Amino acid sequence: MNSLHARYPFLTAAREAVRDANVNLAEIIAGEGDRHPAVERGVERVRRALLDGTVRPVADGRRWGTTAEVLSYPIARMLVSLLDAPGAVEKYASAEAGTAYEQFVADFEAPDDGLKSTRGASLTLDTLVADFDLSESVVEREDDFGVAVGPYLSLISDFSDDEWRLASRRLSNGYVGVSRAELNELLRASTEMRIASDLPLSVPEEIEDALSEEVSELESSFTDADFSHDIDTLAPSLFPPCMKALLADVRDGERLAPASEFSLVSFLASIGLDTDEIQALCEVRGSARADRLRYRIERVRDERTAQFAPPSCATLQAYDDCVNKDDRCETITHPLVYYEDALDENGTVTDWRDR
Ligand code: SF4
Repeated sequence: MNSLHARYPFLTAAREAVRDANVNLAEIIAGEGDRHPAVERGVERVRRALLDGTVRPVADGRRWGTTAEVLSYPIARMLVSLLDAPGAVEKYASAEAGTAYEQFVADFEAPDDGLKSTRGASLTLDTLVADFDLSESVVEREDDFGVAVGPYLSLISDFSDDEWRLASRRLSNGYVGVSRAELNELLRASTEMRIASDLPLSVPEEIEDALSEEVSELESSFTDADFSHDIDTLAPSLFPPCMKALLADVRDGERLAPASEFSLVSFLASIGLDTDEIQALCEVRGSARADRLRYRIERVRDERTAQFAPPSCATLQAYDDCVNKDDRCETITHPLVYYEDALDENGTVTDWRDR
């Protein structure tokens, strides 16, 4: 197992490395004494995915070993399969794919420099495309990439924006023209499909028993993060400073980092906004950015409201999204509590939707 497997544990090579290492996951999970680091990281992976929209390790100084990181992936898949939480599987797969997307885009842009210490640590476009069995379906051309129509249509099956429809595309010799950035989006979709495939898993009973404590711990962390969901007033002027800043960036046409976008969308969904309302508030309706936002919203919401609470102040601070703090910020630890308190204090306010 190597660092590439640790960063991209969904790759075929990572799966083979686990198999070749003859690791007995059941023994690791059921082991006596302290929790194995792979189980610890697996729990963190699921918690981060469902609460923060990313599976990046918490920036608390702890470093996970390569083996723990690689093995935490199959363990996380079992954990998310055991959770009694609608939408958990989809949200988990989306967070894993979003984190992988950030990493492979960075790898493609800055491949390793050939130094012995780093050689092989970066993922190349060819490797990822080959892993998804797309080598025959993706061709690099002078100005863009061509993706064979069949695979293209299956990769965009979750995309709803008109810009992805065949009618909006250049088509030649059975290949659809896409830019480099669009190809990366298609690979993110392919990553998510790979991760979501077979989920939820059918977990053997002895592993289910051995993971019962971890499953309870995860379920209680979602309950702890649950809020009253009584908020039904939309008053952007009373939003916490962090959400005001993210909303302003979206309205200015900036593309938010995935974790920041998740924070904003889950905050808005938590206060009861539906997809159309979020798109209207963000002023993206009718633009190419609307589709990406819709995709994010659909993975954050269930029919009623946000499935899981948006990130806490601590998480927003970790992502440098805690900005322009004011006095109220000193009294709370969660942006939703900030907003609830601000609404309470301001009495009757006009709902933005009634303006
Ligand atoms: S303290 Fe919390 S509510 Fe205030 S800006 Fe920072 S993250 Fe937002």
